[in-house]
Formats: sequence, C-alpha cells, structure tokens
Amino acid sequence: MRTYAMTGGATGIGAELKQQLQGAGHKVISVDIKEGDILADLSTAEGRKAAVDGVRALAPDGLDGFIPCAGLPPVAKPLSLIAKVNYFAVVATVEGLRDLLEKKKGSVLFVSSNSAPMIQADDSYVQSCLAGNEEAACTEIDGRDGHTAYAGSKRAVTMWMRRHVVEYAAGGVRLNAVAPGITMTPLTERVYADAELGSAMKEFGDMVPVGRTAQPADIANVMRFMLSDEASYLCGSLFFVDGGSDAMLRPDDF
Ligand code: NAD
Repeated sequence: MRTYAMTGGATGIGAELKQQLQGAGHKVISVDIKEGDILADLSTAEGRKAAVDGVRALAPDGLDGFIPCAGLPPVAKPLSLIAKVNYFAVVATVEGLRDLLEKKKGSVLFVSSNSAPMIQADDSYVQSCLAGNEEAACTEIDGRDGHTAYAGSKRAVTMWMRRHVVEYAAGGVRLNAVAPGITMTPLTERVYADAELGSAMKEFGDMVPVGRTAQPADIANVMRFMLSDEASYLCGSLFFVDGGSDAMLRPDDF
C-alpha cells in the first residue's frame, strides 16, 4: 500500500484518480474546498497552510506521491482566483510537502493542460508567477482575459516543474506533469455554459483529432501509470493526454 496526497479530489479528474488509487489498495489523502479528508480553500494562505498541516498530520511517515490537481476554469471570477488556485497554491503545497516526499522518494504529478503552450514563456503574467510575486500576478491578470489567466497559470506551473527537476531529483523526488485536453468534468461544463468562451471551447472540442473529448478515466488512467513503479524513470516529463490536439496545433514543436 502506498500513501498519496492530492488536492481537488472531490470531482472530475481528481475524483476519478482518487477512486482508481483507492481501488488499487492505496491510501489517498484528499484536500478540497468541497469535501475530503482536509477541507481547505487553496486560494488563501490560511487554506494552503491548513492543507499542508493536514497532510503532514495524516502522513507522518512520508508520501509516495502528491498530485496538486485542484484547479479553476478560465471562466472563474475574479481572474486572480485562477492564478491563486492553479499556480500559487500548487507551488506552496508542493514546497510544503517536499520533505515528506523525500522520506519515501516519492514523485509529484502536476496537472498542466494542453492550453499551457498557448501562452508565451516570456509573458509578463507568467513571469510574475514564476518570480513568486502573487500580488503582481493577481493585479495584472484581473485586467486581462480568462484564457490568459488559465493557460498562463498552466504554462507557469509547467515551467516551475521543469526548473525544479534537478533540485528535487537530488533529494530523490521526481517531478512530472500531465497535460489533459478537454475533459468532460464540472470544470468543462462551466466553460461550455459560458456566453463568452463556451462556443469557442465547443468548437475546439469538435476538432480533437481522435474524434471525441476525454472522460476523466482517460486522463486518470495515464496519471495512475505515471505514479506507478513502472514509470520510475519518468522525470521532468510533460505528458500530453489530449487526443492529438497539441500535435494538431504545434506539429513541429515538442
Ligand atoms: P473539477 O472542477 O471537476 O475539479 C476541480 C477540483 O478542484 C474540485 O474538486 C474543486 O472543488 C477543487 N477546487 C477548486 N477550487 C478550489 C479551492 N479554492 N480550494 C480547494 N479546492 C478547490 O475540474 P477538473 O476538470 O477535474 O480539473 C482537475 C484539474 O485538471 C484542474 O487542475 C484543471 O485545470 C485540469 N485540467 C482540466 C481540463 C478539462 O478539460 N477538464 C483540461 C486540462 C487540465
């Protein structure tokens, strides 16, 4: 039996992964704003501390894996909430649990998105995130658009992951990220229902090369593999699970 902690286990991809890991006999500690072992609002400093303290209390011997899966869609308002939950809470919880991961030579599986490459690495919002300047990132993004807020948060998370691979690996901790395409979860339902972004997102869903959008299990199956012993040489990988969407948009970039 392994011990995993995750955020965002109440619904969607996180709920499916939690169920699969538990079904395989593992212990899963779930942090979420709605329901879970630890109730915490990850958009706040207090919530992030409660999440880290709660996991530490429930897994004193260490973690085999941590999956910061909680996330908000591009239609969440104010847009700064997206930066707070999708980027700053992810970094704070990973850093807060680092020593528990080192104890068991565990791995972190970040949840990026196939939208991450849609924002340039040198975008000022992405750079504010990576500089750890939450106030500047939040102030800026509240004046921009939902797509940038969301995709930029995922671009920043992925860059943070890649930049910390060597440092974490020195302590025995591997960092990887999964990049799902459009997946039918409550998050996507919120986007589909949005007057501004809904129709563009549905059109993108109709263009997925394999001919369908994903179900949560399509993503969780791969995540479970990425967390398993069979994937123990995986380190620093960004794994697109998107039905071919990224290859369609950026055939020559990888
Ligand atoms: P979801 O809405 O079903 O799940 C998100 C979870 O995060 C929920 O359980 C929610 O309660 C939790 N959460 C939200 N705000 C929180 C907060 N402030 N504090 C604590 N928990 C909070 O959505 P999902 O589609 O399963 O998303 C899971 C992850 O996958 C997210 O990081 C999302 O960005 C990413 N993702 C989703 C898609 C997609 O198309 N659905 C595509 C790419 C990436």
